[in-house]
Amino acid sequence: MFWVIGPTIPRLLYPVVGEFSAITCFPFAFAEQAPQQSTVVHEYIHARQSLDSLLVLAPMLGALGLWQAWPGWVMLLVPVAAILAHGLLYTALSVVGRIIWLSRGSSWAEAGHLGYRSNPMEIEAYGNSRDIWPDGEKRASPRYLATRKPFIWVAYLRDCWWLI
Ligand SMILES: [Zn+2]
Repeated sequence: MFWVIGPTIPRLLYPVVGEFSAITCFPFAFAEQAPQQSTVVHEYIHARQSLDSLLVLAPMLGALGLWQAWPGWVMLLVPVAAILAHGLLYTALSVVGRIIWLSRGSSWAEAGHLGYRSNPMEIEAYGNSRDIWPDGEKRASPRYLATRKPFIWVAYLRDCWWLI
């Protein structure tokens, strides 16, 4: 993953998605300042979620493109379309969460935060970016990434519905 550290892109996105310490748009991650280790691991989990979608959607779209004889320049956009589709799914999950929290009487800002935190992709990323180290302290650890199963965020839908 390629990290882009600097204020330009984050400050363009803050009015749209709210302030963040880092955001991943695979294969890039953007942060205004050098991120903490737990943020790095968190964004790598998001990168793996994106990669799962890319590895499933891109071959499907590619096969459709070959079947429909799409022009070469359109075929070059297939991986971008797969990543965009993943981003739309992430956004849809956050929007559904926000709507549910709004319907339960939360303010717009509160519902936005709760919708974000109850997105199953975020539940996976927040729940697995830290680990117990041999000294007994819980802190950032990339260990989870070594054993992570593809599309495991889907299993967190259970926690998501339980939360909301
Ligand atoms: Zn996240």
